[in-house]
Amino acid sequence: MAEMFYDDDADLSVIQGKKVAVIGYGSQGHAHALNLRDSGVDVRVGLADGSKSRAKAEAEGLTVRSVADAVKEADLVVILTPDQVQRTVYANDIAPNLKEGAGLLFGHGFNIRFDYIKPEAGSDVIMVAPKGPGHLVRREYVDGRGVPVLLAVEQDASGEAWALAQSYAKAIGGLRAGGIRTTFTEECETDLFGEQAVLCGGASQLVQYGFETLVEAGYQPEVAYFECLHELKLIVDLMVEGGIAKQRWSVSDTAEYGDYVSGPRVIDPRVKENMQAVLADIKNGAFAKRFIDDQDAGGPEFKALREKGAQHPIEGTGKELRKLMSWIKETDSDYVEGSAA
Ligand code: NDP
Ligand code: MG
Ligand code: MG
Repeated sequence: MAEMFYDDDADLSVIQGKKVAVIGYGSQGHAHALNLRDSGVDVRVGLADGSKSRAKAEAEGLTVRSVADAVKEADLVVILTPDQVQRTVYANDIAPNLKEGAGLLFGHGFNIRFDYIKPEAGSDVIMVAPKGPGHLVRREYVDGRGVPVLLAVEQDASGEAWALAQSYAKAIGGLRAGGIRTTFTEECETDLFGEQAVLCGGASQLVQYGFETLVEAGYQPEVAYFECLHELKLIVDLMVEGGIAKQRWSVSDTAEYGDYVSGPRVIDPRVKENMQAVLADIKNGAFAKRFIDDQDAGGPEFKALREKGAQHPIEGTGKELRKLMSWIKETDSDYVEGSAA
């Protein structure tokens, strides 16, 4: 059984006694910065000159500085820019300005696991990774709850890195739900695998193939959209509430029987072999290298794949159908439908 931490295990005064710089004010950055502030932590946000996020952070009353200036005064630097820019921000703006003995905190293990960032021996290197999107991390905190977090210590220079990780996790509300002890390696490899094989990659491809199969067989795209995409949320909600068992309990016996006999025909043992190959490429660094090399070149492959995905017929069908369903609310005010970013 995993080692778990809750609010009572952590001492808030540890993080309250430190100056914290949150670098980046995006999905996770805004949630960490605001939750820390509301937990009585001395926080400043570090952003690049001309950053689009600056106005948002200032509108919340947060202190915003350049990354270099935020780092100079910090005892703990929280690195929450996108993974692909972290090593450049670290090399140019963080490492040269880091106070002796200041710690580094990550929301995901990517840059440490794949050695894109190699911290000095004098820094604590810790991770507090919420298992949910940043907007939920903020919303739950405001509502008096929290999103579960993974905690890890890669380097314990101070001898108090665990107390710091737990204190930080408490301050962002994560220990109201619970924290699980892990390592940078386990968090990073399982996070990448989950999003590639199941949550994002696997689910997206499954939905597209289902939609294509029906449309190519002559069924109406609108009907195919409902059956293969829209209703997925209802099924996933049941799984989250009570596991696969509750999903099977709730659907009709016809659907449950079809689940048993046809699920393994569609997702057959070859799919598991494909998943093992994906995991191997994560563990041996091939995926990380492909991603970072492409990003360093300006993301040509990434942009082409994003464009190809946006052109899939299911997107146009869905855009029209969602207009009929007034109860479907946009939950992220930053998202613009049809935009590239
Ligand atoms: P975002 O893409 O939302 O971060 C964008 C922020 O980073 C913006 O404020 C942006 O500024 C800033 N930024 C971008 N480039 C730079 C730069 N060169 N220098 C300074 N600031 C910069 O990131 P996420 O919140 O998605 O991810 C942050 C970390 O959290 C990652 O490690 C990720 O893996 C992890 N994580 C993310 C989750 C999520 O919910 N998204 C869930 C769990 C972990 P500007 O406005 O100027 O563009
Ligand atoms: Mg991830
Ligand atoms: Mg049905």
